[in-house]
Amino acid sequence: MYDAVVIGAGFGGLGAALELARAGAKVALCEALNYPGGCASTFSRQGFRFEAGATLFTGFAPGQLFERWIAREALEVPLDWLDPVVELRTGDFTLPVWRDRERVLAQLEAMPDAPKEGLRRFFALQRAVGDALWPVMDEPERLELASLPSLGWHALRSPRYLKVARWVGRPLGAVLEHCGLSRFTPLRALADALCQITVQCPAAEAEAPFALSAMEYCWRGAAHVRGGVGVLAQALTRAIAAHGGEVLLANRVKSVERRAGGGFVVHARRGSLEARRVVANVLPGVAQRWLGPVAGLPALDRAVQDGWGAVMRYLVVRGEGPAHHLELVDDLQAPFIEGNHAFASVSGEHDVGRAPDGCRTVTVSTHVPLAALRAPHDAKATVDAVQARLERTLQRRAPELLEREVRRLTASPRTFERFTGRPEGAVGGVPRRAGLHNYQGLFPSPVVDGFWLVGDSVFPGQSTLSTALGGVRVARRIAR
Ligand SMILES: Cc1cc2nc3c(=O)[nH]c(=O)nc-3n(C[C@H](O)[C@H](O)[C@H](O)COP(=O)(O)OP(=O)(O)OC[C@H]3O[C@@H](n4cnc5c(N)ncnc54)[C@H](O)[C@@H]3O)c2cc1C
Repeated sequence: MYDAVVIGAGFGGLGAALELARAGAKVALCEALNYPGGCASTFSRQGFRFEAGATLFTGFAPGQLFERWIAREALEVPLDWLDPVVELRTGDFTLPVWRDRERVLAQLEAMPDAPKEGLRRFFALQRAVGDALWPVMDEPERLELASLPSLGWHALRSPRYLKVARWVGRPLGAVLEHCGLSRFTPLRALADALCQITVQCPAAEAEAPFALSAMEYCWRGAAHVRGGVGVLAQALTRAIAAHGGEVLLANRVKSVERRAGGGFVVHARRGSLEARRVVANVLPGVAQRWLGPVAGLPALDRAVQDGWGAVMRYLVVRGEGPAHHLELVDDLQAPFIEGNHAFASVSGEHDVGRAPDGCRTVTVSTHVPLAALRAPHDAKATVDAVQARLERTLQRRAPELLEREVRRLTASPRTFERFTGRPEGAVGGVPRRAGLHNYQGLFPSPVVDGFWLVGDSVFPGQSTLSTALGGVRVARRIAR
């Protein structure tokens, strides 16, 4: 009998399994694919190694979660501290997002007709929100409010929270308006691009504290993992095993049975496992299928279904130089989805093992509404149209990639599902449109007694760091 079976080795499952094993629990981690990481994994095709989805990560600065894991578990995870972290390319301008926020501000201020005072107010607020919320994210215990020292720590920081409180339940669009920036296209485009890949909706709609906080990822511990993020995911599975956890790859869980007297039987491809508790790193719809009707899950499932699927392109290109990440926008007036906006990440000379010398691999992603893919005939036409639009965006904004292309692999959300284990190829994360509902589920609680959900559909949501943090929080609640 296991104390806990963790289903899925995405970053939520990895975080939960590592912390449970470290706390001395008897843990098994079942992963359907033969490699860990889910949306943040690295897979092999035809001798090349591609990052499946996620390509740029935060949490590596001193004191942040990944940095602490790497130090504590002596993980071999080489990093590149890229500068710029990302480059935004549009038809009208190019904006490198440097590691130094002031340098980004100075660049924006130097643009024609820049509302300088408004820009300074916006970035002061953005930094204030980052300073208020990121230290809480860096240390999962802080979110528990379970002890007097923790409550005292928050009480001392209350002036910082007051700066955030005014914007709770309001969209980032209102902040831009407040700062007189609604019509300043360069900042609006930067905010839209960063919001779409983090909080999964345009800036005008995004819950302001989430969006301002997500923008911070460029300036707080962002790094490129050499060899691909799979290096980090693999290192975490070794750490789990070193603490006595069992990591069972290529072991898809088919169903979970609740036992009358308490506990669960987890039916997996390679046999059944008995467990006191289950931590499921799956989408809410899958948990619902296993558990039957449970309060809360249908609403969460609908929120995911109202979100996005990933349309991908994986390229091999000739060329040398450092790794880099590009936010590409074709038409600034059109929505930043469906190929009009793409995130492209290019491996570098230090990414040993991803491509032979003189070649690099590229991961390109864009969003498509899941709703547009429901009818099978429409789905193919929709994905083809998105791929065509993506081609145009790449031709116009990153022609150097297509000119040097030696191989390509296009992927629909269905293909993405094969690479990541993500049902329907859902980008995941519930779009964080403005509203107080975003703060429901701030404190982890089981879906049913003994069954916990982790991953990017539950708080704090999207990104490798957030899901890992969510997994740690659930593990600590269980351990307590
Ligand atoms: C295209 C794209 C680009 C992104 N870019 C970034 C980025 O640059 N930086 C960033 O930080 N974040 C990025 N994200 C977000 C980030 O990747 C995700 O939020 C995060 O990785 C999701 O983690 P998760 O814990 O929800 O698990 P998932 O990644 O969903 O992993 C779940 C795991 O569970 C396994 N599984 C599922 N069902 C079963 C079953 N029945 N039995 C056993 N195993 C099962 C799957 O195979 C998978 O390995 C991106 C996401 C996408 C889609």
